[in-house]
Amino acid sequence: MLGGQTPILVLKEGTQREQGKNAQKNNIEAAKAIADAIRTTLGPKGMDKMLVDSIGDIIISNDGATILKEMDVDHPTAKMIVEVAKSQDMAVGDGTTTAVVFAGELLKQADVLLDQGVHSTVITNGFRLAANEVEKVMEKTAINSRDDETLRKIATTALSGKNIGLSSDFLADLVVKAVNAVAEDRAGKIIVDPANIKVDKKNGGSVDDTEYINGLVIDKEKVHSKMPSIVKDAKIALIDSALEIKKTEIEAKVQITDPSKIQDFLSQESETFKTMVDKVKKSGANVVLCQKGIDDLAQHYLAKEGIYGVRRVKKSDMEKLSKATGAKIITNLDDLTESALGRAERVEEKKIGDDRMTFITGCANPKAVSILIRGGTEHVISEIERSLNDAIRVVAITKEDGKHLPGGGAIEAELAMKIRNFANTVGGREQLAIEAFAKALEIIPRTLAENAGMDPINTLIKLKAAHDKGQVTAGIDIDNNEIGDMEKLGVYDPLRVKRQAVESAVEVSTMILRIDDVVASKKSSGPEGGAPGGPGGMGGMGGMGGMPPY
Ligand code: ADP
Ligand code: MG
Repeated sequence: MLGGQTPILVLKEGTQREQGKNAQKNNIEAAKAIADAIRTTLGPKGMDKMLVDSIGDIIISNDGATILKEMDVDHPTAKMIVEVAKSQDMAVGDGTTTAVVFAGELLKQADVLLDQGVHSTVITNGFRLAANEVEKVMEKTAINSRDDETLRKIATTALSGKNIGLSSDFLADLVVKAVNAVAEDRAGKIIVDPANIKVDKKNGGSVDDTEYINGLVIDKEKVHSKMPSIVKDAKIALIDSALEIKKTEIEAKVQITDPSKIQDFLSQESETFKTMVDKVKKSGANVVLCQKGIDDLAQHYLAKEGIYGVRRVKKSDMEKLSKATGAKIITNLDDLTESALGRAERVEEKKIGDDRMTFITGCANPKAVSILIRGGTEHVISEIERSLNDAIRVVAITKEDGKHLPGGGAIEAELAMKIRNFANTVGGREQLAIEAFAKALEIIPRTLAENAGMDPINTLIKLKAAHDKGQVTAGIDIDNNEIGDMEKLGVYDPLRVKRQAVESAVEVSTMILRIDDVVASKKSSGPEGGAPGGPGGMGGMGGMGGMPPY
């Protein structure tokens, strides 16, 4: 965030300069428009958006980050809102719609105060004070637990409302199993790296065929039909160079050879491959996973030795395999010694749908597992993949922190009440801004109710009454269209996600409020055409070039 000065939003040449109130109003309007556009997707009863790109490809999603990422947004402050969704998604993987909707509402409430003549500095100060208080109340309200039951509820809450049919309990179990498998205890601190959980997908079958694998799956078959289909007690060589001879070497020789000598060269070639395979065999490897190609002859010799071989394995998979099996990735076959090999209980080729895939299970280092998603259509599978990845993130976070909050708008209603009380202790003009902040928090339960088809005003009145009576976990029970106990209903959100959503929303809304001048910049030099004095503090916003005047 910039210091005391008011930031100036710099536009490209040719755009109209806007100052003071006018600039502020327009910026607020643009940001609110984005928030309004995704409001209807909030919560399990939220609607989906169908996104169609210029070549007609479609994505159907109700995930805020996904929708905003695909939206073609031109206005600079609208872009700032889109950035919030991105950074929220990067940081915690969930709560993007919440962050954006809340930011939009903060701006709406700020707008009312601006109209009443409250200065934007007073508003942003008030918002800051309120945000600090929110932090404290959240920390105090958080429920401490990281048992499987809690993790399962975190997963089902994150998965609810996604296009995954009735299988969310089933998928939640897989996610919890996977997170538990990769969780590490480092000096008393639990660390979960979601990168150790590989999510793969394969068309066909039904969602219920989605499986958890204690190991890795690679979307490749063995290179030769005579190779074994199952290798038990696998000793795995990871090679990132080709088991081939460079074409140019052979061609150069063949050109100058008379036909009778071709046989010599062929056998020479054959000899080379035999030597290669001998080196593999000598190391004790019975599985070879190669990042590059494997020549037909090399395949033949590998098969003859009963070695399972796969070629053109993705680099990212090679790295995961190395981590999981303990194998060193070898470039030169001469470095292939027994100590460079990785271990797994089983390497097996299995038929999944119409394809054959290689399963590497029971790895020496069990901290690598996979979930293989199955499902009817590409659209369904892709939405499941996005949802599963989000669920993995939130479950991982909860496993690490061991803290969650009641969802369904409960925490926001509780915060609104506590922040109103806090406002009274602050007094002055800031009090108005803090009260506005409290009101803005209520947009979350209100929208959840609205999207579930409930009367938003009556519901909010009942919800506030419940919190006034000390029912901290009272929220929107969208299945029964009434106020319910979110702790009992198992609607849990991780503390870290909620905290991040408030922080991101406050950051972007105060940044937008502090802009009171939008001027055209000099013609930009670089292709990125950035905004040199542009909104400070927002990373990755250089791509504002090519913006039409608004
Ligand atoms: P976000 O992108 O912010 O995560 P979602 O569309 O996933 O947006 O909605 C999240 C909100 O929906 C959270 O406030 C969460 O507590 C709430 N929610 C999820 N499941 C339920 C449920 N079964 N009942 C009520 N609220 C729920
Ligand atoms: Mg969500």
